[in-house]
Amino acid sequence: MKTIGLIGGMSWESTVTYYKLINEKIRDELGGLHSAKILLYSVDFDEIERYQSNDEWDKSGEILGEIAYNLELGGADFIVLCTNTMHKNYEDIKEHINIPFIHIAECTADSLKKVNIKRVGLLGTKYTMEQDFYKAIIIESGIEVITPEKEDIETINSIIFDELCLGVISEESKEVYLRILDKLVERGAEGIILGCTEIGLLINQEDTEIRLFDTTEIHAETAALMAISDS
Ligand code: GLU
Repeated sequence: MKTIGLIGGMSWESTVTYYKLINEKIRDELGGLHSAKILLYSVDFDEIERYQSNDEWDKSGEILGEIAYNLELGGADFIVLCTNTMHKNYEDIKEHINIPFIHIAECTADSLKKVNIKRVGLLGTKYTMEQDFYKAIIIESGIEVITPEKEDIETINSIIFDELCLGVISEESKEVYLRILDKLVERGAEGIILGCTEIGLLINQEDTEIRLFDTTEIHAETAALMAISDS
């Protein structure tokens, strides 16, 4: 079995989910007492979040690149970055390592293509929804991406940073998310990407009829299957 190098802590609330899902998948695939081989480097999110809001992505890229390199030196066979937003630093991280990096948006695009989704709604942080680094990968795979209107982007973003990343799960915020999701469906979305690794803590498939693509689940499953594949 390959060793997975996880870069987590962004936030740790969702890294817990990665750890659990990866181990469950390995158990389901291999049975018995099998569990995942994982090296986890968990950051202090306060530091990373300050670089995000100060638009100092070069600094976060340097930190995450160094971490990835250290995971490689420690024996990781591939790297999984447990956040959508910080894939903004994908190139910086790649520059530091010689092992594969499992891109969360590429895994998500593959899941969308499998069920032939042509137009998808995207929920995530404001960086993920407004900037191109993430959307471009979905669009390049031939899928149209629609994002909420400006005011709703702000609301979604605040709930992520002020509640979900702090472990606060509220019924009220869930309703807010579901209303925004409905608006995307009215605009023609055939599915919704939960493009932030904490959103699955708030809403899941039982809350709505529209097909959800939870990036944490997709990414964790891809990592587990890669760890036990021959290639
Ligand atoms: N975990 C989140 C994501 O998937 C947000 C936290 C962050 O900004 O990294 O984008």
